[in-house]
Amino acid sequence: MLPDFRVRQRDFLLEISRAITAHLDLSEVLRRVLNASVVMLSGEVGLIALQQDENLYRIQATLGVPDELLPALNQQLDDLFTDSNGLRSEVINTRLQKMALGINRSLRQSVAIPLIFANELLGLLVVFRAYREGFTPNDIQVLQSFADQAAIAVHNAQLYQKIDEERMRLAAILDQSADGVMILDANLHILRFNRALERMTGWRIEEALEQHQDDVFVWKRRDKGDLKDALASGWPLNTPPDSPARMLYVEGDLLRRDGLALSVAIIYAPLLSSDGRLANIIANVRDITNFRQAQEMQDTFVSTISHELKTPVALIKGYAGTLRREDAQWDPHVITNGLTVIEEEADRLAELIENLLATSKLRAERMKLDLDYVRLDEIAKRAVERISTQTKIHSFTLRFPPRFPVTQGDEVRLRQVLDNLLSNAIKYSPEGGKIEIGGLVQDGMLKLYVKDHGVGMSDSEQERLFERFYRVDSALSRKTQGTGLGLYLAKAIVEAHGGKIAVESAPGKGSTFSFSIPIID
Ligand code: ADP
Repeated sequence: MLPDFRVRQRDFLLEISRAITAHLDLSEVLRRVLNASVVMLSGEVGLIALQQDENLYRIQATLGVPDELLPALNQQLDDLFTDSNGLRSEVINTRLQKMALGINRSLRQSVAIPLIFANELLGLLVVFRAYREGFTPNDIQVLQSFADQAAIAVHNAQLYQKIDEERMRLAAILDQSADGVMILDANLHILRFNRALERMTGWRIEEALEQHQDDVFVWKRRDKGDLKDALASGWPLNTPPDSPARMLYVEGDLLRRDGLALSVAIIYAPLLSSDGRLANIIANVRDITNFRQAQEMQDTFVSTISHELKTPVALIKGYAGTLRREDAQWDPHVITNGLTVIEEEADRLAELIENLLATSKLRAERMKLDLDYVRLDEIAKRAVERISTQTKIHSFTLRFPPRFPVTQGDEVRLRQVLDNLLSNAIKYSPEGGKIEIGGLVQDGMLKLYVKDHGVGMSDSEQERLFERFYRVDSALSRKTQGTGLGLYLAKAIVEAHGGKIAVESAPGKGSTFSFSIPIID
């Protein structure tokens, strides 16, 4: 029969062991272990240090130790563990005694018990007491068996903490991802939904969770792939593992919650359970609006450019064919007229080809400038003279101050910018009207502008104006010749001069395009 005291100690030990192994929160487990150890040994003070890295132990829980002593105690622990003799009992005893005195002069006894799990030293449990009697072998045995239980609890809590950290890290990665990420169960209910998807779909995370994906992902138009069809025909099990077919690609226009459409591409990747059944589906959702727009622009470009090439070629061929007819006698006026059209159309073709070449070159390298002194007021004057022969319904005003400064620039390119702005001013004021071209000195730069009173543009139409191949989608643009390259090249030329190009416009009110370049003496 065990003496009463021992029985109580054993019951206490069992009860406390149960309580600590039922917990998974590491700091709570440590707190309980420490409290129980100190109570069991009638101690006053205790601490638990856990391994952080190889040979680095840090105090993680204390009882009765003022916080300001922690750095010094951690240092003493470091010395203990790095000293090769450190773990010999007499060395431990001396060092513990030193620690005890550092904490409280009345502490006379100390005991340190290693927390060992699967032959690995997880940490050290230390109890100090003022009680004069030394720790009996029984005390130490009780504490040792308690420490074995505690080590299991600490190990479990550490594992749990690691898993929890990993889970939070994964959640943070999902949330930070610029792409939409969603995890579905096998019945296509949403288990996870990240922030990017909130932005894309207009659904808040809390609202989307547990919904069926078809309630959140409503298609306005689907161009490729269908998850339901794929599942009905046996996907993903009907595809070999690791083959690209394991990934399902779906593309189309989603109907967002606010009724707007969004072009997206979704890649569904299956996650199988250990017995080979479909457990989850991970969906990666990408906003492909820009990609679609670029593709559409490219398509429109091909059709406009073929139209742009065909028209002059047809005119040239028509006039050349007519003029060379051997059975006809043309009077000189008709001949001159025909040849003028041929010349103009050939010029237009040459200009178009030049623009295309410049554009493709610009994609490959930065624009090179052939610099010399230029007089932009003169260039503008000549540009107006040239262009005014092409229209009868527009009138032009030049507004340059006398002695407009000379600067350095590439004359051919700058002429191209002005020609382009002027020809746009004509094209996009089909009713005719005044066109003003002027210059001023502003903030040490030369600023030139072309102002028309034509159709103008809305703010949204202005946004993409300077992009390659971009043309405003309007009835007028559709019937007006153009490739969407003029402003793109104008911007590149101005920027190559270290300048900036800008537009101010409103629908029905006309537009003012302006650019500034630095004055270089
Ligand atoms: P394009 O060859 O189509 O004229 P640009 O790059 O010169 O190409 O111009 C792009 C688009 O910007 C045009 O299609 C037109 O819709 C719009 N735009 C350009 N200049 C004007 C203007 N002065 N007034 C109204 N719209 C303009």
